[in-house]
Amino acid sequence: MTATAPKSATGKPRPSHLFYQGRQRRPLIDRAEGIYMWDVHGRRYLDGSSGAMVTNLGHSNPRVLAAMREQMDKATFAYRLHFENEPAEALAAEVAREMPGDLDRVFFVSGGSEATESCLKMARNWALATGQPKRWKIISRYPSYHGSTMGALGVTGYDPLTEPYAPMMVEMPKIPAPTCYLDRDNHSMEERGRRYADMLTERIEREGPESVLAFIMEPVGGASTGALVAPDSYYGRVREICDRYGILLIYDEVMSGAGRTGRFLGADHWGIVPDLVALSKGFASGYAPLGAMVAPPRLVEPVLDAGGFPHGHTYAGNPLACAAGRAVLREILENDLIANAAARGDSLLTRLEGLKARFPFIGDVRGKGLLTAIELVADAETMQVLPPELNAYARVVELAYERGLIVYSRRTRGGREGDHIMVCPPLIVTEEQLDELFESFTDALAAFAREAGL
Ligand code: PLP
Repeated sequence: MTATAPKSATGKPRPSHLFYQGRQRRPLIDRAEGIYMWDVHGRRYLDGSSGAMVTNLGHSNPRVLAAMREQMDKATFAYRLHFENEPAEALAAEVAREMPGDLDRVFFVSGGSEATESCLKMARNWALATGQPKRWKIISRYPSYHGSTMGALGVTGYDPLTEPYAPMMVEMPKIPAPTCYLDRDNHSMEERGRRYADMLTERIEREGPESVLAFIMEPVGGASTGALVAPDSYYGRVREICDRYGILLIYDEVMSGAGRTGRFLGADHWGIVPDLVALSKGFASGYAPLGAMVAPPRLVEPVLDAGGFPHGHTYAGNPLACAAGRAVLREILENDLIANAAARGDSLLTRLEGLKARFPFIGDVRGKGLLTAIELVADAETMQVLPPELNAYARVVELAYERGLIVYSRRTRGGREGDHIMVCPPLIVTEEQLDELFESFTDALAAFAREAGL
């Protein structure tokens, strides 16, 4: 299905009052169930990217819908200065049970950008409350994506999204993301991982350790790097460096959290306990706008004692969103969907690896659990990028869409060049459904190879 504007009765494109980033118009959605979606023309799509890595539980889960209906009949909104609400209280306790270490205080928001913003501001309030007012710099990585609001953009390393607003925002120091697969040297992957971690030490020293407040990273990269996973050596080393300098380690688990990588948090693969965690996306699986910052009492208590956390959003802890979040979490846990993400993720990576033999322009295959990607290149040996005019990242998505398969893609290297395609179906996906996904995906890649002359 091509991306055309909806037609009016006269057959002319119907003008719309709605707009997003560009002029592309997709067909109207009619309904969705499990891993499938149908447009109003009756065409079926396999949701091979869970939307934007959101619908972990798949669509129209009856128990989630029932829980939402039940809450709707009670109260859909209660402002937090006037009432507490049971779904928010209960969900906070249930999330705390899934978190590592001492991370047991939950601050609800409505999405991923709000969750990362909350972490940045919480870190600063903690520094103020503990007599460290000079600490304000948050080091982050390039490329990275932490959200579209101004604070989150300040720690984001993705040029097309940040450059227009450069004069209006505080750009925070960046270190390179651990893109070890691009390095051509004699070092082992583990050595490279340590070297990338040590860039944090260098940057802290350059900035002045007393001015540095925190380091924020995606444990498994999202759309900016295409499911980038660092060598194991990276994770523990970064934690050590943060401890050595007394700076906070923030894990942005907006995409990698809530089971997507085969553990509840990406951090759990490496036994890391971050100081702050941002959650959203799969956390409520698209049933309602919901996100959270999770923090330990050692950060929260001093801030509350010092007069409170002067930050929040009107919809925070919304009872309907939290009721959806509770039901989603229960379904994920009771149906062992995190284990399914790990098992199906292994199968997915093996299948993606297998595509390399047929399509030599697949330069790298990576990911964890059901957060996976392939990177398309002109030369897999040198990892030289494809000519930008091929628009490979966008074309493959279109060719897949025409075949009833939804995948997700972005430019890779800071948003200026490089092409990756993310394949991230819901956590409920079966092997048979992966067969179906792969049939369409292989066909789309073959069509791309033909039209690009590769
Ligand atoms: N952080 C990460 C790692 C993300 O992938 C995203 C969204 O893609 C965000 C933050 C922002 O989330 P939202 O779009 O819900 O504001």
